[in-house]
Amino acid sequence: MAKSINVRLPDVLPKVRAEVTKYRSELVERIRANGNRLTLPGLEILLANAFGFCDGVQRAIEIAYAACHVFRGKKIWLIGEIIHNPDVNASLDSMGVRRLPWNIDGKGCEHLTAEDVVIIPAFGISVRLRQMLEERGVQLVDSTCGNVVKVWQRVRLYAQRGITSIIHGKVHHEESMATASHSLGEDGRGRFLIIYNRKDAQILCDYIRHGGDKAQFLEHFHGCHSSGFDPDTDLSEIGMANQTTMLKGETAQLQHMLREAVRERDGVDTRFHAFDTICGATQDRQQALLDLLDAAPDSMFIIGGYNSSNTSHLAQISAKRLPTYFVRDSACLPDLSHALAYHPETRREEATPLPPVAADLQSTWRIGITAGASCPANIIEGVIRRIAELRGCTIA
Ligand code: SF4
Repeated sequence: MAKSINVRLPDVLPKVRAEVTKYRSELVERIRANGNRLTLPGLEILLANAFGFCDGVQRAIEIAYAACHVFRGKKIWLIGEIIHNPDVNASLDSMGVRRLPWNIDGKGCEHLTAEDVVIIPAFGISVRLRQMLEERGVQLVDSTCGNVVKVWQRVRLYAQRGITSIIHGKVHHEESMATASHSLGEDGRGRFLIIYNRKDAQILCDYIRHGGDKAQFLEHFHGCHSSGFDPDTDLSEIGMANQTTMLKGETAQLQHMLREAVRERDGVDTRFHAFDTICGATQDRQQALLDLLDAAPDSMFIIGGYNSSNTSHLAQISAKRLPTYFVRDSACLPDLSHALAYHPETRREEATPLPPVAADLQSTWRIGITAGASCPANIIEGVIRRIAELRGCTIA
């Protein structure tokens, strides 16, 4: 049976660390050292206290690069994306790493043999896909983040105790799908339901309190529950877990709603269990953004991959309070009239007007900047330099 191997070896790591310095930024370091503030004529840039690469992402990138050294000359495959950042993934493509589809059941992996090396991304893979890779005897290199593994341990425990897992997450996100597969437990008989927002939680709470139209319930949660899910029996004892990158406040709210529903039904809340599995890096970035919003800049730029869950949540928090531009990189800033910004609601990058102060060179434009846990610092630097260039400022 194939086991994953540690590729971050003492003789490999120094080479890898030299290669990944391209994702660092001397300018960003300087701004950090200057209290997260860069002041230029007519331009003030404020960085959040916590932003960009988290430890889990840094580790995953190092593992992928190290695999390329350790298995030089072999066919190396990556399942899906190593992290949700297009530049990092493109860089691995250019190093000859081939892609396999990320899916629940391992479709597309049938051709692999013991000669192949397969890298598991930071958000992990499903139980079935891993089993299939092991059966084929491939050499596994596992970069799953430890915080994700903790969620899996929690839902497996729920399954062992006959508790249905309620997963607060995005149903099509790799991490939630992997977590759902683990919630089936050792014998595959565990149950899960994925909820995304307050509306889902409310429907679930109503059913817990009063029961209801089963067909309608299952239709609403179509594709979000374990096979054969029966809300009449499978909601008798529930345990919550979250995708690690959800909004902390929202998760707390959903937990409260579900606990109250169980308490109202049973008179006690002993058949409700919760475990906050939002990772520290996500929480730190969300809190740092809230602090930055208190400094009331004119505009906020959120930088990162558009399929990054934690970055989308930063954009969501910021957009409630300030004109916010979720951009991928410096190419999203063609001029001072508009930015090409991503809108998570429409899932599209759209030309979005910048505020009048952006083009008013007599005024000072105060900009807040943060970035998701998968965004490299060199991309952040690119955005800062582009804004300065558009405003006619020089950065040493
Ligand atoms: S955001 Fe959290 S869970 Fe995801 S890789 Fe980073 S530390 Fe791990």
